[in-house]
Amino acid sequence: MTAVHIPGVPVIEAGQLVSTSPATGAEAGRLPVATDADVRQAVARARAAGEWWAGLGFTGRRERMLRWRALLAKRIEQLAELVHVEGGKPVADAIVEIVTAIEHIDWAARNARRVLGARRVRSRLILAEFSGHLEYQPYGVVGVIGPWNYPVFTPIGSAAYALAAGNAVVLKPSEYTPAVGQWLVDSFAEVVPEQPVFTAVHGLGDVGAALCRSGVDKVAFTGSTSTARKVMAACAESLTPVLIEGGGKDAMIVDSDANLDAAAEACVWGGMTNAGQTCIGIERVYAVDAVFDAFVDKVVARAGQLTVGPEGTDIGPITMPQQIDVIRRHIDAAITSGGRAVLGGPSAVQPPYVHPTVLVDVPEDSAAVREETFGPTLTISRVRDADEAVTRANALSYGLGGSVFGRRRAVAIARRLRSGMASINSTLTFAGMSTLPFGGVGDSGFGRIHGEDGLREFGRAKAITRRRARSLLPSMTFDRTPADVARLVKAIKVMYGR
Ligand code: NDP
Repeated sequence: MTAVHIPGVPVIEAGQLVSTSPATGAEAGRLPVATDADVRQAVARARAAGEWWAGLGFTGRRERMLRWRALLAKRIEQLAELVHVEGGKPVADAIVEIVTAIEHIDWAARNARRVLGARRVRSRLILAEFSGHLEYQPYGVVGVIGPWNYPVFTPIGSAAYALAAGNAVVLKPSEYTPAVGQWLVDSFAEVVPEQPVFTAVHGLGDVGAALCRSGVDKVAFTGSTSTARKVMAACAESLTPVLIEGGGKDAMIVDSDANLDAAAEACVWGGMTNAGQTCIGIERVYAVDAVFDAFVDKVVARAGQLTVGPEGTDIGPITMPQQIDVIRRHIDAAITSGGRAVLGGPSAVQPPYVHPTVLVDVPEDSAAVREETFGPTLTISRVRDADEAVTRANALSYGLGGSVFGRRRAVAIARRLRSGMASINSTLTFAGMSTLPFGGVGDSGFGRIHGEDGLREFGRAKAITRRRARSLLPSMTFDRTPADVARLVKAIKVMYGR
């Protein structure tokens, strides 16, 4: 018989982590909780496996990763159903998430050799007698710590690139979505049965902390900014390098020459897909005065059509029950400080669901504007012009993504956003483009996943010089003579002294 728990709250029963559906409370997954010793053992096994994996070379890894990608594509419905049950998101959202992950596996596998492989590097006149060689060597074992909101896309965004670069990976999935994490590593083991190259350890935050201290060679963390600080502190003890994909409060700017229908549609999707539980979700909108009223009307009309509920709807339950308190607090704070709900409002919060809510006239110092809400809510503010929109968008310590709707000035505005990414005339699209890097600035983190930068993030640059001929201007030797040094001075003045 299926056990029924408090919907969405994971529990530990007899050493097993039990995850539950946030919609129904039905059990979704049951995985053994790792002890500190288990984590260390997993990393030790991964270290040996990583050497084997690295030894396969780019061609061997590419072939296996493409088979893994094919397996995910074939079983996409099965994985989407598990993501839906365990995290609550609509199946269609889960499908889109998995499609994006598959795209990243494919690109990372196909491009690792080109980006990371050994190559000659041009030398310069001053050391012309040497050739330069560069390659990116795997770290060894990468610890990947992931959140629950995109339990396929976020771990794969690090793991696929780390694996393609020749590392073994130990994943600590969120306690809310361990079954999805285990599904990913099990599917990988089907195509790479020889060695435990990609494995998972399960449990609460302390298991993530143990992974940081387990001797892994790099940690790729995706999660909240407050946990990121703890991860960095733990990694600092052993100088373990970290990649931080933190939280966000992404803004959208609607300029006066924007297509308002398209802007409203993209705004509602960017803000409310996955019930707004998206790190790069649109949470704040700045619309210029000339189009503000028409834009708000269109957003309200579109968001008002969204359906909410457990099955076959646009918006599913809020995954973490305690997040509902945050969403409620932000809506209440917005209204108390003078804001107005033009759709939804306090009554929209009906646990485990939150109905679409659009807030206007909210002061910039309100929690609804400054803090990550992670619900299907939007604040829309009226601004004089695009310059004021940029100033307000850039006022927070977060800087993950962003969006601009407009024509003439759109690219210039996007470039001025203090963020790692921006989409013009769309929202969130940069996440799916495997050729582009993904990551933030400020409290949203540092380092990059995806694209060429994402591959390099998981390889150590190894620089090699090789003598090709005798030195005409010997300098890096005690055999140099005063005349050699004088010639060097003369040469440098001719070359750079003008
Ligand atoms: P958390 O920071 O709560 O958790 C993230 C992961 O860290 C979980 O696996 C968690 O385990 C683990 N963890 C908790 N404590 C520690 C610790 N002391 N040491 C090491 N690991 C620990 O984030 P959420 O899971 O709630 O995810 C939502 C957040 O993630 C939002 O802020 C969102 O913006 C951000 N995010 C960022 C993305 C990006 O790419 N920039 C993408 C997606 C989400 P456990 O769950 O067991 O506590």
